[in-house]
Amino acid sequence: MPRTVFLTGITGFIAKHVALKLLEAGHTVVGSTRSLDRAGELKGALRPHLTDPQVVENRLRLVALDLTQDAGWAEALSGADVLVHTASPFPMTQPKEEAALIRPAVDGARRALRGAQAAGIDRVVLTSSAVAVMNTELASGKPAYDEADWTDTAHPGVTAYEKSKTLAEQAAWDFVNDDAPGIALTVINPVLVLGAPLDLNYGTSVQVVERILKAQDPMLPRIGFPIVNVTDVAEMHLRAVDWPETAGKRYIAAEEFLWFRDIAEAIKAEYPGRKVVTREAPDLVVRALAVFDPAIRTVLPSLGKRRDVSAARARDEMGIAFTPAAESVRRSARFLVEKAGL
Ligand code: NDP
Repeated sequence: MPRTVFLTGITGFIAKHVALKLLEAGHTVVGSTRSLDRAGELKGALRPHLTDPQVVENRLRLVALDLTQDAGWAEALSGADVLVHTASPFPMTQPKEEAALIRPAVDGARRALRGAQAAGIDRVVLTSSAVAVMNTELASGKPAYDEADWTDTAHPGVTAYEKSKTLAEQAAWDFVNDDAPGIALTVINPVLVLGAPLDLNYGTSVQVVERILKAQDPMLPRIGFPIVNVTDVAEMHLRAVDWPETAGKRYIAAEEFLWFRDIAEAIKAEYPGRKVVTREAPDLVVRALAVFDPAIRTVLPSLGKRRDVSAARARDEMGIAFTPAAESVRRSARFLVEKAGL
């Protein structure tokens, strides 16, 4: 049934894909951004991908909201049936003060949920992250992290971003359990999201492919991530909105773990004539460089570690057939070469 969905952070890489899925499915979308100046950019990104481009005029509206400000939430959310909360700061580098990330993420999630409660909304979908799942010791004998696992924010090497996502998700579950039992919450926990962006404002995750495509580093550290395609993540948000039986659960969004070397090799295979670094740096060299370079220091906890997650719940209960990780890498690379001129 078509409903009015309030989508926070609508200008984001993932949220634009979510908006597209919601509009194509017949829903009306009210999106929030900190700057209404971005309305033209957003509509321009969506229009070419819509079956009926007129929809951006008829069923899409924007409002200004900031995660760090109380003003406006209840009014903005009034009249909506569903809240999809994706907005959260996701910078490439970690700030000096952890609170710069944690406060907007956690307080923002609380503001969004309080606004939903005040507006009488009983259905909420939250974009958390697999980083709220994976930073803890895996129980012995368990092959992969799943939705029962929770990041321990005191675990060594947990970054400010990882804490911000974990604490924001915990705050959301606490809020619905303690203060708003009438709200049905579904949480999506994506791993590194790749694939083709809708426009040139493509956020942080695609910059992993961008960096390798630019051959910025003489060698690659032995690190990697599980990867998921942005259209699959958006489809999961749509199914969470439409399927009441997903309420009360977390859903990991993931296809397969790829090392940086695998990502580089997928790009090299797509663009054989291009200089793409596929050689791995010995761990010892990375550790030595980390003494001088704080950016390199942040990768040390992941060095040489393969961490798998299971998205069996999303496959079994939501019926998601995940795009192969290497294909997601290729789609990002093709976008960057063909649309961003890299
Ligand atoms: P983007 O950075 O592309 O989008 C995030 C959006 O959040 C921005 O467009 C911005 O909108 C909004 N935002 C940021 N800070 C604030 C603030 N203080 N107040 C209001 N809005 C704010 O990120 P992604 O699309 O990559 O990520 C979207 C969500 O998915 C985030 O919650 C992220 O943590 C999560 N996620 C992302 C993954 C990935 O690999 N990309 C993996 C797992 C989870 P505006 O500037 O218009 O206000």
